[in-house]
Amino acid sequence: MSIVPELMAANERYASQFTNGDLPMPPRHKLVVLTCMDARIDPLRALGLAEGDVHVLRNSGGRPTIDVVRSIAVSQEMLGTREIVVIHHTECGSVRITNDSIRQRLTESLGPDAGRAAGEIDFLPFTDLDQSVRDDMAILKSSPLLQPETEISGFIFDVKTGRLQQVDPT
Ligand code: ZN
Repeated sequence: MSIVPELMAANERYASQFTNGDLPMPPRHKLVVLTCMDARIDPLRALGLAEGDVHVLRNSGGRPTIDVVRSIAVSQEMLGTREIVVIHHTECGSVRITNDSIRQRLTESLGPDAGRAAGEIDFLPFTDLDQSVRDDMAILKSSPLLQPETEISGFIFDVKTGRLQQVDPT
């Protein structure tokens, strides 16, 4: 059964106390947070942020895919952000998969069309957390679509303690 009725009831309560209707569109801190979709991470609360403060981009692993770069380019050019924080995390699902394993699972569960489509996707798995953060900072730094003065820093979020550890970019 769908959870949508529950969500709608929760939204009714949320909207009845909503006070953020006048927030400006540009993020207050001129910051983009790129992190994993993992359900255990709440980027705003973990960083002491609130609505209106930052752009949050999330995907599997928190990787700077073409679409993430697209979004950051829009964020910077249209809405003035100039800093990026990359956050990967312990126990990430991206460490537990390989391109072959996820492609095989999709083929088995959904059939050969899915297998062919999955064959064209790099699922961007990784094995070394510090290195994946460093790689992603380097990818962003070298992108011609990002403002040259962009400040980029990287962190690992520990899902057991809630603590961030900074990753040296080199
Ligand atoms: Zn993850």
